[in-house]
Amino acid sequence: MKILLIYPSRLSNLEQPMKYRLGFLPPLGLAILTALTPKHHQVKVLNDIVENVDFDSDVDLVGLTAMTTQISRAYQIADEFRRRGKKVVLGGIHPTFFPEEALQHADSVIIGEAEGLWEQLLIDVENHCLKDRYQHKEFCSLDNLPTPDWSNQDLTIYPRMLGAKLPMMPVFTTRGCPYGCKFCAVTKVYGKSYRVRPIADVVREIEATNIREIFFVDDNIACVPEHSKELFRALSGKNISWMSQISTTVLKNPELIDLAADCGCFYLFIGMESLNKDSLKGAKKSFNNVDKYEELIARMHKAGIVPYLSFIFGFDEDLDEQFDLTVEFIRRNKVGYATFWLLTPLPGTDLYWEFLKDGRIVDHNWSHYDANQIVFNSRIEKSELERRYWKGYNKLFSWRSIVANMGNVVKNSRRPFNEFLRSLFYMVYIHIKVSNNDHPFSGGIFRRS
Ligand code: SF4
Repeated sequence: MKILLIYPSRLSNLEQPMKYRLGFLPPLGLAILTALTPKHHQVKVLNDIVENVDFDSDVDLVGLTAMTTQISRAYQIADEFRRRGKKVVLGGIHPTFFPEEALQHADSVIIGEAEGLWEQLLIDVENHCLKDRYQHKEFCSLDNLPTPDWSNQDLTIYPRMLGAKLPMMPVFTTRGCPYGCKFCAVTKVYGKSYRVRPIADVVREIEATNIREIFFVDDNIACVPEHSKELFRALSGKNISWMSQISTTVLKNPELIDLAADCGCFYLFIGMESLNKDSLKGAKKSFNNVDKYEELIARMHKAGIVPYLSFIFGFDEDLDEQFDLTVEFIRRNKVGYATFWLLTPLPGTDLYWEFLKDGRIVDHNWSHYDANQIVFNSRIEKSELERRYWKGYNKLFSWRSIVANMGNVVKNSRRPFNEFLRSLFYMVYIHIKVSNNDHPFSGGIFRRS
C-alpha cells in the first residue's frame, strides 16, 4: 500500500491552514509509525505546517495525528481525502478523547498509543476488514520498540545549528507521570505510572541515527531519580547536547541537575505554572514549592543549564497583578527564557470535565484551544486577561529585554558561544512571534500564510 502520514497544521480565524517557512521539531509519532510499518508498504510523511498537501496524490491510506489545536485542520484534510475515496485513519490526543467525533471524519480511529495497533490496522486494511476503532486494554510495554524511522521525512525543513548535519531531533525515554495536575492530559493519555524505555534502546537509537542535538520529549525526565541517574551516566561521553522537561521536584535530588549537565543537557523546561500558592493548590499542583523556585533556578545556573520557565495564567485564584509579579520574578532571577500560557480546559483533562459540568466553557471551536485564548468563563474578563497576557509576554521579549535575556543565557551556559548563536536566533524569533500575538511554540517558524 501507499501510505501518507500527515502532521496537520492549525486553522487560522479564516479557516485557512497556517503555514510557516520552517517547522519546529520533526514529528516523532510519525517516525514511530513509519518504523512499525512492514517494509512492503511505501510510506511518505508530510508536515503540513511547512509542506503542502496534494489531495490528488496516489495513496491508499492516509494517517493523521492531532492534538486538539490541530484537529479542525486534520478534519479538513481527512474530509478532502475521503471525498476522493481514500481511506483515512485518525490518531493522537484529540481522537483518543473524542473517538466518536473523529469517526465523523475518518474510517478508523486509533485510541491511545499506536504501537501494536497500527500493525494490526494495516493488516485489516489489506484484508478489507478495517475496524472503526483500535484500542489497547492496557498501556503498552516500552521494551523492544523499533528505532523511529526518519528516512521518509524531509529534515531540511527544520532549523539546525551551523555545521550540523541534522536538526534537533525528538527522542523519548519515558512515558506517563505519577502526578495529576488538573490542566494536564499526560496522565490520561499515558497513565499515572511512569514507564521507562530500556536505556540500552535509547542509546542504540541515538547511535543509530547519529543525532547530536536532542529534545527528550518526556514530560518529566527525572521522575524516578535512580533511573534518571542511570540514563544520564549512559549518555555521558556520547558527544550530544540535549534539552528536556523536568518537574520542580528535581530539587529533592539536586545531584541529578549536575549529572544532566555533565552529559550534555543545556536547557530544561520547568513547569513552575504559577507563583501563586492558591493557584497551584486549585490546579492540584501543590507539590510545586514556590518558596524553593529561586533555589532551583540558582542550582541550574550553577550547573550550567539554562532554565526555561513555564507559567500559566487565568486561574481563578490568580491575583490581578499576577503578570507583573511573574515578569519581575523572571528578571530578578536573571532567567533568559520563559514561556507563558493561558489556562485552557484541554479535552480529557479534569479541568475540562469540571468546567463543562459547571457550564463555564463558552467557546467550542477546537482551533481556539491553543492556550493563548480564553475559551471559558474566567474570573477576569476574557479580553482583559488576553490583553494582560500579551502585554506581559511582550514585556519579557521586548528588544531591550532580549539583550539582557541573551546575556543571562550566555552567562549561565557551559557552551557560551553555541548559546550566543542559538539565543540570537531564538530571541529574535520569539520577539517577532510574540509581537504578532502568535505563541512561540505554536505552528512553526516564520509565518508565510
Ligand atoms: S503538568 Fe507535569 S507534573 Fe503535572 S501531570 Fe502533567 S506532566 Fe505530570
